[in-house]
Amino acid sequence: MTADSSFVRALSERIDGDVAADGATLAAYSTDASNHRLVPTCVAFPRSVADVAALVSACRDEGMPVTSRGGGTNLAGNAIGSGVVVDYSRYLNRIHNIDPDVRRAVVEPGVVLDALQASAAAYGLRFGPDPATHSACTIGGMVGTNACGARAIAWGTTSANVTAVDLVLSDGRTTSLGAGPYPRL
Ligand SMILES: Cc1cc2nc3c(=O)[nH]c(=O)nc-3n(C[C@H](O)[C@H](O)[C@H](O)COP(=O)(O)OP(=O)(O)OC[C@H]3O[C@@H](n4cnc5c(N)ncnc54)[C@H](O)[C@@H]3O)c2cc1C
Repeated sequence: MTADSSFVRALSERIDGDVAADGATLAAYSTDASNHRLVPTCVAFPRSVADVAALVSACRDEGMPVTSRGGGTNLAGNAIGSGVVVDYSRYLNRIHNIDPDVRRAVVEPGVVLDALQASAAAYGLRFGPDPATHSACTIGGMVGTNACGARAIAWGTTSANVTAVDLVLSDGRTTSLGAGPYPRL
């Protein structure tokens, strides 16, 4: 067993979510919407924030790079990496609530923009920035790229529309950044 395959096995035992290292998955995740290609060691699909924290800790212990991925629609190779590619869109894709009074949604990072727009439309609301990839890009990826789109001139880029974020730090600890006592995940 190679060092990589024993790492993959240990990681899959440490998190509830899926860990894949088969050829088809590695090939699919070796590219994004850029011209770059880099084959990862494995791809992880966390089910919870606790999974993400455990995963980051495991990677830190082994010196394994971590690359976050949403829809993989960025144009600069940002969502590919040689270590563990973490896809949030499979499980961490829930909209927890939308509060029309304060015009705020609490979402997980893997929510696809169109799904948020459809839910917000029920309250006569929308998320302002609208990249052309709205049917595939995720809120996490939009934060990662500070996505804009044609209407961002009117409604601001993603950073202007995010009030708070929950973060997993490089040592696996979690923290929250932002203004106000908003509901957290
Ligand atoms: C045809 C085309 C048209 C486009 N049009 C536009 C446009 O009009 N406006 C625009 O702004 N962009 C546009 N883009 C770029 C891209 O679609 C956007 O930047 C989009 O927001 C990326 O979202 P994603 O979920 O695909 O992110 P990904 O490509 O998966 O990731 C983008 C970055 O975010 C990071 N990331 C992802 N999830 C997380 C997470 N949970 N935590 C921390 N970091 C994370 C990744 O590591 C990476 O660095 C376009 C791209 C294409 C191919």
